[in-house]
Amino acid sequence: MDQLNIAYRVAFPDPGRHIYHIVLTIQNLPVGRHRLRLPVWTPGSYQVADFSGNLFGLEGEFERRPLLVTQTTKNRWDFETSVQGTVTIRYQVYAYQEGVRQSHLDQTHAYWNGAHLFLLVDDYQDVGLGVDIDVPPGWQVATGLSRLPDAPYRYQAANYDVLIDSPVEIGRHPSYHFDVDGKTHTIALWGEGNEDPDRLVKDVQRIVQTAREMFGELPYEHYTFIFHLSDHGTGGLEHLNSTTCGMERFSFRPQKSYRRVLSLIAHEFFHLWNVKRIHPEMLGPFDYDREVHTHLLWAMEGITDYYAGILLLRSGLYTLKDYLDRLKERIQAYEKRPGRFVQSLSQSSFETWTKFYRPGPDSPNRQISYYLKGELVGLLLDLEIRRRSQGQKSLDDVLRLLYQRYGRESIGFPEAVYQETVEEVCQSSFEEFFARYIESVDDLPLDQALASAGIEIRRQWKALADDDAQESASDTPIPWLGVDLKWTEHAYIDVTTSYSDGPAVDWLSPQDRIVALNGYALESPDDLTKRLQANHRPGDVVSLHLFRRGKLQQVTMELGQAPYDQISVIPAQNPSPDAKALLSSWLGVSPTA
Ligand SMILES: [Zn+2]
Repeated sequence: MDQLNIAYRVAFPDPGRHIYHIVLTIQNLPVGRHRLRLPVWTPGSYQVADFSGNLFGLEGEFERRPLLVTQTTKNRWDFETSVQGTVTIRYQVYAYQEGVRQSHLDQTHAYWNGAHLFLLVDDYQDVGLGVDIDVPPGWQVATGLSRLPDAPYRYQAANYDVLIDSPVEIGRHPSYHFDVDGKTHTIALWGEGNEDPDRLVKDVQRIVQTAREMFGELPYEHYTFIFHLSDHGTGGLEHLNSTTCGMERFSFRPQKSYRRVLSLIAHEFFHLWNVKRIHPEMLGPFDYDREVHTHLLWAMEGITDYYAGILLLRSGLYTLKDYLDRLKERIQAYEKRPGRFVQSLSQSSFETWTKFYRPGPDSPNRQISYYLKGELVGLLLDLEIRRRSQGQKSLDDVLRLLYQRYGRESIGFPEAVYQETVEEVCQSSFEEFFARYIESVDDLPLDQALASAGIEIRRQWKALADDDAQESASDTPIPWLGVDLKWTEHAYIDVTTSYSDGPAVDWLSPQDRIVALNGYALESPDDLTKRLQANHRPGDVVSLHLFRRGKLQQVTMELGQAPYDQISVIPAQNPSPDAKALLSSWLGVSPTA
């Protein structure tokens, strides 16, 4: 019997129309009923997006004769064959959504995520697949897929998961290359801004080398960085041997903003180990038809974020101050969210499809991000392993062990393995740690943990600045309404979030439009904050005029005390020898660095 062969051809003759033309050819398909499916989500982006909404014009052919193909659900198409033979399916996909997890086609480039374009032939998720691309003259291709020499733009994927995992960028983009371990790394840049390609290439290479030192090897033949520079950042998406990062085009300067760019790149690159290879059972092979749930996204995303900071420090792209400033931002954001006492990390991971990926105005009150808290728990876990093992072991060892046992072969592990591996590395129980900080909502012992490494957290408020004066920190509490506000395009002040631990929770709700404080008109949210801070103290009673559903109302309320908004994370004055030793084992620096 001749071997089954599945191949796709992608063409886009009129890119200005934003339409991909796909031909799926299945040679030697056995007799019987068959099913084609398009994913409803794409790995790394935990939202049901129903990509079939953009697919149209599907028609089938069997041995050069029309074949009846019937759509049976939102993302399935069925057909039947009476003899073994070749089936051809032609269809089109509209693609004009910008973003790393989207597909976008215009006169400047073609970019796709496979989950939008490639129909899966049911029962054949594991077979090798070919892709031919009709590339316009003068355009080039950047992708993690391996290229075959026998045709101009012919690629292959070991299976459907790899095909879906390999986004493709085609255009006139400049591309840059560097080698690590004799393996080629390519950077493709679509769009332009204030980037400095020479510096970017050097810095990305340092990130690659530092991560490689941690794991001891690079588990791929080649790696592709696709960078999209646009008017807004669209985040990053991780893949087995590539990533797409969407950066705001002018974010490469100043340095503070560039550090965020590097952090995104380090995060996505680290994912090639953590989540793409080291992952729980639910995260590969994938069920593309429905949501998949795991309690471990905090370990996949939060710990990846933790290592983004650590890799930048180890590679010299962060100073100690840069790293501690990053921690400061994380701690401040974490402590502002009342949801940290409502949703555990484990729940936050599990519920991502309905909560994190569908945020609303009340999310801060009921949810905690597994990125944000996950990074802080990664920090605590690392410090605790280092403390208990007297600096002999670290979170690095946990990840290396998970990689050796499971990741290298891409085997998903049962969820309990995570805690067990920490305990095995450290040779002691982490039952209480996981129960309190991951399964439940106990507040994190950040002060205590950082103090053990000679780092101090100082919590203060921003003092009201005089004109032209620098903002300074103060120990005097500042008054607070307990709401986040936004300034709408018509210069109205609208409530976005009313904090459940704030004084206005019973009075102010999302979309309330605040127009006056104590009877006097307000110009902007800033005006409101400044007037409160200059003229009031926590405990004062104020009146507000507001519109709710277009009706003017007045509320009188007592001001609360604002959460700390001026947190510093700094080396302690006189750290103990133990603390100095822990700091140097953890961040590789002495407190005076
Ligand atoms: Zn991530």
